[in-house]
Amino acid sequence: MDHTYLAANWADIRHRVDEACRAAGRDPAEVSILPVSKTFGADVVREAVALGLRRFGENKVQEIRDKAGPLADCGIAWVVIGHLQTNKARDVARLASEVQSLDRPELAEALHRRLQLEGRAIDVLVQVKTSAEESKSGLPAADLPGFLDDLARYDTLRVRGLMTLAVQSDDAEHVRACFRQLRELRDAAQARGHILPQLSMGMSGDFPLAIAEGATEVRIGTAIFGRRPAPGGL
Ligand SMILES: *Cc1c(COP(=O)(O)O)cnc(C)c1O
Repeated sequence: MDHTYLAANWADIRHRVDEACRAAGRDPAEVSILPVSKTFGADVVREAVALGLRRFGENKVQEIRDKAGPLADCGIAWVVIGHLQTNKARDVARLASEVQSLDRPELAEALHRRLQLEGRAIDVLVQVKTSAEESKSGLPAADLPGFLDDLARYDTLRVRGLMTLAVQSDDAEHVRACFRQLRELRDAAQARGHILPQLSMGMSGDFPLAIAEGATEVRIGTAIFGRRPAPGGL
């Protein structure tokens, strides 16, 4: 299969991210790209590994299960970015290196118990709901202070920062307001003593706005791997 497009896409998105950093007066070294490989098979991910990529975002644990086996030789760090049911905690504890969609106490408890059994600790980001859209999951912003305090008792969960999905809108100001809210929530939490260096926000369609508001990681699927099949066709 010809995957030379992957190399071109990767170079192009890194360039665009760097440009967005400069436009925002930020150092490009501060912003990493998390390639989102959901819906693409192990063969495509292997081509991305050949480009030097080692962390991949997936929104379904089942897909990590399917790809982790055939790619076991690649040393991949799998990052969970999608809504997570507690009954998937066992697979996550075994297979994932990071969860960016930690959004409720029951999930933290379930992950902690399974990670203890595995003798592992993972990085986590707390996903916060910054838009009113029903379809978006995430912890309500008002619950963040209490949740962060509670997480301190889990030595298996290394809390690194916050994650969000912005509202889907053609109005850049609405989108940007979501990213700004996440940064302000982070700043407020840090003022209370939490250490939260990571802000995972921005996707293929809105990453420049996220970078302008302080993203340290942008999650990029389409711009690297191409268009995914329509949701109904999954
Ligand atoms: C799919 C997905 C992305 C990547 O979206 P693109 O628009 O394809 O870049 C980022 N974050 C989450 C949570 C996703 O599910």
